[in-house]
Amino acid sequence: MESSRKIIIAIDGYSSSGKSTMARQLASAIGYRYIDSGAMYRAVTLWAMRHNLVAPGVDPQVQAIVAALPEIHIDFLVDGPRQLTTLNGEVVESEIRSLEVSNCVSPIAAIPEVRHALVKMQQAMGESKGIVMDGRDIGTVVFPEAEMKVFCDASAERRAERRYKELLEKGAEVTFDEVLENVVSRDHIDETRAEGPLRCAEDAVRLDNSAMTIEEQNSWLMDLYKERTGDNSPS
Ligand code: C5P
Repeated sequence: MESSRKIIIAIDGYSSSGKSTMARQLASAIGYRYIDSGAMYRAVTLWAMRHNLVAPGVDPQVQAIVAALPEIHIDFLVDGPRQLTTLNGEVVESEIRSLEVSNCVSPIAAIPEVRHALVKMQQAMGESKGIVMDGRDIGTVVFPEAEMKVFCDASAERRAERRYKELLEKGAEVTFDEVLENVVSRDHIDETRAEGPLRCAEDAVRLDNSAMTIEEQNSWLMDLYKERTGDNSPS
């Protein structure tokens, strides 16, 4: 299903609120490009970890990270339905999803120069529209003019459960409490930073998906897309 009038779809929300799953599914159903902006912050974080410029529980070395930004190249490789994040040409998709990276990413994402560099890249990706992007500041900073904005939330326990399950499936050795603590602490840092804080855009539609299945979320999002574009073709 592909509508002729291409729009920008911004999906923001709390950590592990199911944004990526539904954003990816909608993009594939309507023939749009999907961009996971969180993967870009995670890739910068992985680069900083590899260069000993940040570690779990240790503040990032801001000046050194900012100075290195021109050397950090992030891109996405399309592999069938999957998008693989690359860091300086290397596929780092699974490494950036580790709990270690999750534990370091929010302080890095709070650095204004890091945000400016990534926001610029994200805006360039949306130049010709036809894009679904998820993150924290997509509807407020990256694409304030996006035609469709959604803000996702769910209880912290429900979100931690989802992330915990994902990590276990990948063979990670983590406890539920570690994951819950990470989700809560990332949200706090993301909401209270000065630059591009996590917040719901005034014109976003809020979705609390605590009690929804993935299928219910997908069809809710598709209905909203059809309403916004006047597209009446069956999904
Ligand atoms: O979406 P995901 O949970 O993978 O994002 C990882 C982290 O990247 C978030 O906790 C947040 O600190 C940061 N982020 C951000 N702005 C975005 C996307 C992600 O600050 N647009």
